[in-house]
Amino acid sequence: MGEAREGPGRARLAAPPSELHPDVLEALGRLGIERLYSHQAEAVRSAWEGPTIITTGTASGKSMCFNLPTLDVLCRDRRARALYLYPTKALARDQARALAAFGMTKRVRPAIYDGDTPREARAEIRRSANVVLTNPDMLHVGILPNHAAWADLFANLAVVVLDEAHVYRGVFGSHVANVLRRLRRVAAAYGTEPRFLLTSATIANPVELAERLTGLDEIGLIDEDGSPAPSRRIAMWNPPLTDEALGARRSALGEAAELLAQLVRDGARTICFMNSRKGVEVLSRLVKQDLADSDPELAERVAPYRAGYTAQQRRELEGRLTRGELAAVITTDALELGIDIGDLDAALVVTFPGTVASLRQMWGRAGRSSVGRRGKGLAMYVAGEDALDQFFCRHPEDFLDRPVEAAILDHESPLIYRRHLLCAAHEGPLSAQDAEFLGPRWEAHAELLQSAGELRRRPRERPAHGGGEREDDSPGATLAPSTYVLRRPGGYPAADISLRSASPEQFAIVDVASGELLGSTEAARAHSTVHQGAIYLHLGQPYEVRELDLDRRRALVAPFEGDWYTQPKRETDTSIVRLLDRRETLGVTLSFGEVNATETVLAYQRKRVGDHSPLDLVALDLPPTSFPTQALWFELGSEDPELSETVPLDTLLGALHATEHAQIAVLPLIAMCDRWDIGGLSTNFHEQTHGPTIFIYDGHPGGIGIARAAFSRFEELCGDAHRLIAECPCSGGCPSCVQSPKCGNLNEPLSKAGARLLLERMLAVRPQPAIAAPL
Ligand SMILES: [Zn+2]
Ligand SMILES: [Zn+2]
Repeated sequence: MGEAREGPGRARLAAPPSELHPDVLEALGRLGIERLYSHQAEAVRSAWEGPTIITTGTASGKSMCFNLPTLDVLCRDRRARALYLYPTKALARDQARALAAFGMTKRVRPAIYDGDTPREARAEIRRSANVVLTNPDMLHVGILPNHAAWADLFANLAVVVLDEAHVYRGVFGSHVANVLRRLRRVAAAYGTEPRFLLTSATIANPVELAERLTGLDEIGLIDEDGSPAPSRRIAMWNPPLTDEALGARRSALGEAAELLAQLVRDGARTICFMNSRKGVEVLSRLVKQDLADSDPELAERVAPYRAGYTAQQRRELEGRLTRGELAAVITTDALELGIDIGDLDAALVVTFPGTVASLRQMWGRAGRSSVGRRGKGLAMYVAGEDALDQFFCRHPEDFLDRPVEAAILDHESPLIYRRHLLCAAHEGPLSAQDAEFLGPRWEAHAELLQSAGELRRRPRERPAHGGGEREDDSPGATLAPSTYVLRRPGGYPAADISLRSASPEQFAIVDVASGELLGSTEAARAHSTVHQGAIYLHLGQPYEVRELDLDRRRALVAPFEGDWYTQPKRETDTSIVRLLDRRETLGVTLSFGEVNATETVLAYQRKRVGDHSPLDLVALDLPPTSFPTQALWFELGSEDPELSETVPLDTLLGALHATEHAQIAVLPLIAMCDRWDIGGLSTNFHEQTHGPTIFIYDGHPGGIGIARAAFSRFEELCGDAHRLIAECPCSGGCPSCVQSPKCGNLNEPLSKAGARLLLERMLAVRPQPAIAAPL
């Protein structure tokens, strides 16, 4: 077991800025807060200067950093309003309680406005709440399109808070970046320019994230944590190998159950995180069994907690946990984001949660410190057999000592951007001054939407009246720059956009038993994720697809109890549409550009959950699907005699394929994303490059910046992929290195040795500085 220690660190304190409004200082006094952590005082000053992002550690009192400047504004200006955005409803409720704790009832009137807010309460909230807590989805579909009803809020909007901003990445982040630009645009139409205050978990690019999300520049950064680091023991547990050649290990679940039962016996109040609902159920059963023999009473004090419980059930469990009646709670990441459940002694994370940032947040549950108290705790991690798990487990120091992952998003991803441009046109005619909010290329996109029949160009109204939405096509209109409006004035484009998916083309997923709509999936992915016979996971719960109805765009599913999962067999093809950037590095030609990815799902394999052994292969009859996206590709000279010396031709394809898998496996450590967000293709002859080529592409239509990040950090990607392969003890490749759970070729052919040689050959060439080719 690997072990490390953190802290304890001393707190750095500072007096609250004396310029704060006396009522705010008084409220702090009532709360017994005489001194702030240094970063809180700095954040207040930075917020007065300009937009600010705060990235101090878990439980370092980040809310105080944006609450103080907000309360200050509300005290100085009775009409001022603030908007707080949270990624989940639970977090908004938690923050509403935190605001109420200041006891400034005369000055501060917080209210939650989300899908659960009763209709009859809404008008009053619009009229009088001066802190409106909501989520980006509600802002997008409910508030911005109805800005006239919110005129008073927009006309007095002083502060916008974006808490947990690192959550806004990938597809979701690309949408939210557009929603925030629309927000700034609508606010400007009402004459305000709100101050943006953001917080984020520790990531590699906080300022860049804030800039990309808001479209603002000169963002202030507060990252020097003045709170006392809790004294924390960190332990990494890699289940022992049972078969070295195959790379097989004891199960993470079984190991975790033993550890957790022991922690409970030792009297440590523990929270345990698993990434699937099924895993949560299985683990709590194992722990209860283990405890039942020796101490049945303790077994009763272990409970699972997962999405899908009612609000009532959740509150009850939270209460039992806070009061210390529960010894251990086992959960999916439902609790990850900072809801206050008090101090716990230990946090156990079973299998890698996808990003180091969320691992740290989960660990942060143990030994949380509050002002004047120093926490103590145990933070543990039990590795699974996945490549990312094993790689992380071998190099914790590389990833724990400094933020490595960058939160990636692309607000101009065309499919996403253009949908929001329609929403913006609905909120007010698009015109030349919108470049400030929507970017310099907005008009090119608007022209495309015009030719697609969605927007209509109209001559600008006479400049005499300001900002009205009156339709005016009178021939007397001047030749001033034109504006764009919706072709169908009665439309409501926001209703057609989900902030959680890249493309408006969706397949509905319907539970046949209950008729309930479980969710939806992007059309581009439907064939591979919800084909007939597929085992589909929804919130960690498995379902079996009974029928994929292509005409009605829906998949009918039923709850599934079996012990297999499915992996589709696909034929993939990529055609290069446009080259955007190119450089020579590591002895290869590395390119970035737009491609068209075409996939045909041919069959699926059923595999046993326990040991991944294949059960059978079932043929499917599905038409090809294709979508435009962004990719990097690199060419290994086919004429190169040295290449065939390094990697003999008969293993070349296996070597390329294994290299592609290894690169995709480690890419999430550079760009915060999921392996499932990335696609790949390797071939020893590509029609357009005329040689051996590896493609890595964004798995979402239009692309969201993942391939671009991989292009710019390609050398690192190759270095990590090489370490992943070289350090794995298996002989011929295993799930911990070159095998991929999502391979469309069912992991055939793969050459671990060939990939190792290929990457070694590349890394032996000194990296060249990046030079963008003029195109
Ligand atoms: Zn291996
Ligand atoms: Zn593959």
